[in-house]
Amino acid sequence: MEERTLFTKIIAGEVPADIVYDDNDYCAFRDIHPASPVHVLIVPKRVIPKITDAGPEDKEILGGLLLTAAKVARQLGVDESGFRCVINCGKDGGQEVPHLHLHLLGGRLLGWPPG
Ligand code: 5GP
Repeated sequence: MEERTLFTKIIAGEVPADIVYDDNDYCAFRDIHPASPVHVLIVPKRVIPKITDAGPEDKEILGGLLLTAAKVARQLGVDESGFRCVINCGKDGGQEVPHLHLHLLGGRLLGWPPG
C-alpha cells in the first residue's frame, strides 16, 4: 500500500487546504506558511518521498511537474512578473514533508541566493 503523507491527506480532502489546481496526476494548494504573496505547493499525487528517490521511470511525472508549475503560474498571474520553483531535498535542503513537491513562489521580488 502507498505511504500516507500529509499531502496525500490534503489531496484526498481529509485535511483542508486552499486547492488552486487539480488534475489526474497533480494537486496544487497554497502553503499554510506562505513565504511570498504567491506560495503554492505542486504535488504529484503518486508518492515519491524525495527527488533522489525518483528513477528513470519517473521522467514523465517529473517533466509534468514543471509543466504544471508553469500552468499554475499562468493561472495565478505571475508568469509575466516572474516566479521561482524550488524543490527541497533532505535535511540540509529543509524538506519537512516526505512527499515530493515543488514550491512555486512569486508576487514579490525574491532575493538570491536564498538565506
Ligand atoms: P518542505 O519544507 O517539505 O519543502 O515544504 C513543506 C511545506 O509544507 C512548508 O512550506 C510548510 O509550510 C507546508 N505545510 C506544512 N503543513 C501544511 C499544511 O497542513 N497545509 C499546507 N497547505 N501546507 C503545509
